[in-house]
Amino acid sequence: MDLNVKAILESAKATAAAAAEKAGKMADVATKKAGDMAVMTKLNLQIFDLNTEIDAVYKEIGKISYLSFVGDCSHEGELDDKYAQISERLAKIAEIRETIANTKTTLECPGCGKECSKEDAFCSKCGHKLS
Ligand SMILES: [Zn+2]
Repeated sequence: MDLNVKAILESAKATAAAAAEKAGKMADVATKKAGDMAVMTKLNLQIFDLNTEIDAVYKEIGKISYLSFVGDCSHEGELDDKYAQISERLAKIAEIRETIANTKTTLECPGCGKECSKEDAFCSKCGHKLS
C-alpha cells in the first residue's frame, strides 16, 4: 500500500476514534445530567409537599387563634405542637435546599447569570471568575 494512503487511512481512523470517544463522553454527561434532573425534581417535589403541609398547619393555627379570640381557648394547648411541626418542616426544607445546592453540577455566573459547569474556572460567556 502507498505510504501516503496508509497515513491518511490511519489519520482518518484516529479521527473517527476520537469522535466516538467524544460522543461517548457527551452521552455520559447527558446521562449524568438527566440523573441529576430526576433527583432535583424529586427534591423540589419534597419541598413543595413540605410547604403544603406547613400551609395546612398555619391554617390550623389561625383557626385556633380565632377560636381563642371569640372565647374558646380549649385548643390553645395544641399550639406549641403546631409551632414545632412548622419548625421541623422548615428545618427539613433547609436541609433539602442544601442537598440541591450540593447536587447541582452547574452554578450561576455572578457576572452575567449564565448557568456554567461547576468545573469551569471562568464563565464561557462573560469571562467572570467562577467560585
Ligand atoms: Zn458570565
